[in-house]
Amino acid sequence: MFRNFKVVSQVVFGRGCFNQLDDIISKKRESDATAMIFLIDDVFLNKDIKNRIKLAENDEIIWVNVDDEPKTEYIDQLTAQIKKKMKLKSVSLPEGVIGIGGGSAMDLAKAVALMLTNQGSSSEYQGWDLIKNPAVYHVGVPTLSGTGSEVSRTTVLTGPEKKLGINSDYTVFDQIILDPELIKDVPKQQWFYTGMDCYIHCIESLTGTYLNTFSQSFGEKSLDLCREVFLENPDDADDKLMMASYFGGMSIAYSQVGVCHALSYGLSYVFGIHHGVGNCIAFNCLDEYYAEGVAEFRKMMETNKIELPANICPDVSKKQLKIMTDVSLVLEPLWENALGKNWKKIITREKIESLYKKMLR
Ligand code: NAD
Ligand code: ZN
Repeated sequence: MFRNFKVVSQVVFGRGCFNQLDDIISKKRESDATAMIFLIDDVFLNKDIKNRIKLAENDEIIWVNVDDEPKTEYIDQLTAQIKKKMKLKSVSLPEGVIGIGGGSAMDLAKAVALMLTNQGSSSEYQGWDLIKNPAVYHVGVPTLSGTGSEVSRTTVLTGPEKKLGINSDYTVFDQIILDPELIKDVPKQQWFYTGMDCYIHCIESLTGTYLNTFSQSFGEKSLDLCREVFLENPDDADDKLMMASYFGGMSIAYSQVGVCHALSYGLSYVFGIHHGVGNCIAFNCLDEYYAEGVAEFRKMMETNKIELPANICPDVSKKQLKIMTDVSLVLEPLWENALGKNWKKIITREKIESLYKKMLR
């Protein structure tokens, strides 16, 4: 059986297209009384973004904090907060949720849109296709490019037991607004780490056993764009990185990521290391799986004068190694994509632990 997967229904791209947000969402408003919720990364608290958003009577801006990557607990708290606010306004449910920010803020928006219409805690839905009801209309506006969250069918959450996404067709945004002007002030390190997330998506997709022409077509274009952005510094780097992220996300949508992502999830879970930098730390130790990609990645680091964090935890405990290995091994499709159907015979717990030790020293 071939996967029949959902893609984002509507996309607008271009410098300044964020100005069309009001026009786009107003078509979804049933009446003047309906409410839209804007979940905005609080890094923009003192920036002019909020002045560019037209609020209708019952709309709300909720500033979200992403110092920690999205946790199920935070999703549940935001969902309850929105429901309470709506009740006070005698609105049953908001008409839509608009997420503005990097991968974390976009994932928060996707998860909240899902949890407004699904009972219980978001931790109950971490996995594949566990969501029962369609989400409310949700829009993604990336302000940082690389994760591909704007096109993916997952929202990655850290829960009480695992770091695992809510993967479902309902997770996919209904609309995305790709405005390269929004990413121009991203600090250099963050720009690089999140951009490398995209580069690694491409390498893992293009070298994986799940590869097909669909994924290859998107992956190769994304890889070309990453090479331009991170090795040649073109004038239109922001436009190119934004499209690389989109294409990279499309590539893994019909294939999968691999060893680097499987290991990086463990680093995030135990040490709270953010996705982009965690991927870079892991990828830098994976010559034996992705020799050419790792060599080029080091060239990109050198070109952009990036130094990875070192000495993260040279004395990592046995318990920590066990937890990281457990988190990593849950991600079976990633291992299968990277190493083939017999992956369980190839990758042992000892091997994973030795890779983690290398990353943390
Ligand atoms: P992020 O969203 O965590 O943001 C990193 C930092 O950059 C934050 O401090 C944020 O406030 C700041 N920031 C965002 N936009 C900015 C801007 N324009 N100017 C200045 N600062 C800005 O980083 P990310 O790498 O985009 O996202 C990582 C998250 O995405 C992780 O939670 C990861 O699990 C998730 N992810 C999701 C998917 C998916 O398909 N859903 C894929 C990969 C990663
Ligand atoms: Zn990633």
